[in-house]
Order: sequence, then C-alpha cells, then structure tokens
Amino acid sequence: MTHAVKYHPGMMLMEQYVEGTLAPDVALAVATHIDLCPHCQRLCQDIHNDQASSLAADDAPVMADDFAALFSAITAEPQLEKPRKTQQRDAVTVNINGREFRVPRALSRLANQHGKWLQLGGVATAKLPAGDKMHVSLLYIDKGTEIPNHTHLGLEMTLVLSGTICDENGEYGAGDLLINTPADTHTPHTRADEDCLCLSVLSAPLKFNKGLTRLLNPLQQFFY
Ligand SMILES: [Zn+2]
Repeated sequence: MTHAVKYHPGMMLMEQYVEGTLAPDVALAVATHIDLCPHCQRLCQDIHNDQASSLAADDAPVMADDFAALFSAITAEPQLEKPRKTQQRDAVTVNINGREFRVPRALSRLANQHGKWLQLGGVATAKLPAGDKMHVSLLYIDKGTEIPNHTHLGLEMTLVLSGTICDENGEYGAGDLLINTPADTHTPHTRADEDCLCLSVLSAPLKFNKGLTRLLNPLQQFFY
C-alpha cells in the first residue's frame, strides 16, 4: 500500500475502539481503517498500553511506578513492522464490474457474505450482514462517476478500500476515513481513470439536494 493515509478516526473514536465501547458498526469501520493504517496500528497499541497502565495504577497504587517503568520499557522497544502474512493467507476478494478487490482482514468475514450487487449507472452497492442499527454496505463507484450532491440525515462513514474519492473538501485514497454529518454537503466523484471501492456505514438515508428530487428518490432508497 503506497498511499499515505491522511484521514484518521478521531482520538475519542480510537480510545472507545480500544476500550471496546464503540457501536459494532462504527467499530467495524475503525478496525478496517486500522488494518490499512500503520499510524493507527501504533496509536492503538499506545492507547492500549496507557489504559493497561492506568488500570494497573488504580488496582495497585504501590506498584504504580514499577508498572509505569515496565510499560515504558515495553513501549520503548522499537516496533518492528511485521509483514502481515496472515492477511495474505486469509485474503478475501470482492468481484464487481470485472474487477477483483482484496479486502482488509477486519472485513473479510463480512465481505464473504455480502448481498447481491445492486447497480445504478456507475454505482453499485452490496449490503453486508452487519448493521445492528446502521446500514453497512460495500460501495463501488466506477471511474469518472459522480454521486449527486447530498446532505446526510445522520452519520455517514465512508472508508476508502481502493482507488480515490474526490469531493469539495479534498481527495481520499485507500485507508482514508471520511465522516460526514447532517452539517455536511458534498458531491463525491471518482477520477476519470480509476474506479473505487469503499465500505459505507450510514445511520440514516442520504438526502439529495439538487433538482429532479423525485427522480433521485430511488437513488436515496438505493443507497440506504
Ligand atoms: Zn489512521
């Protein structure tokens, strides 16, 4: 993966992820991001160590110094970037539009069980059997395709798995996590020469803004 991940989950999300208190659908997006992001892999480990050491301090105040010394010794060890052999062996792929995409380990079990692809123009979605409270799906966008301008009635998390999404705010490559709320409006599109696969987690349908609202209504249902 040569793309440097630029858009990471916020610190609060990361802490709740490590604590195990995040809603499962949000945790899925964060776990998949971490698979693609060496920076957050290290951060996760640091948060875990911090939480472990503060737990240790609470339980045994007398030992606090020793634990602190132990943990700082452990974290001071250079972390070797291990080649992720398990990911190779367990590689799960998703096929759409004549393309084959390898999905990160955190997604592999669900991606194996994705629903039927529903295709509309250059866009296709396949529901994943997650989604306790949210709508979780794979989202494929063909090259040179634009998704009409929309706002969000709830939370929209989009994790780019392959390719690039561009919108008014920037460009997002593999591993980048976009979080949009009801305050955000955007018109995402792919590049002319590259298609894109994403993991999409929605808490409510999208709302399309511009013209032809009735024509876009099916699209709204389609995305959710
Ligand atoms: Zn990250």
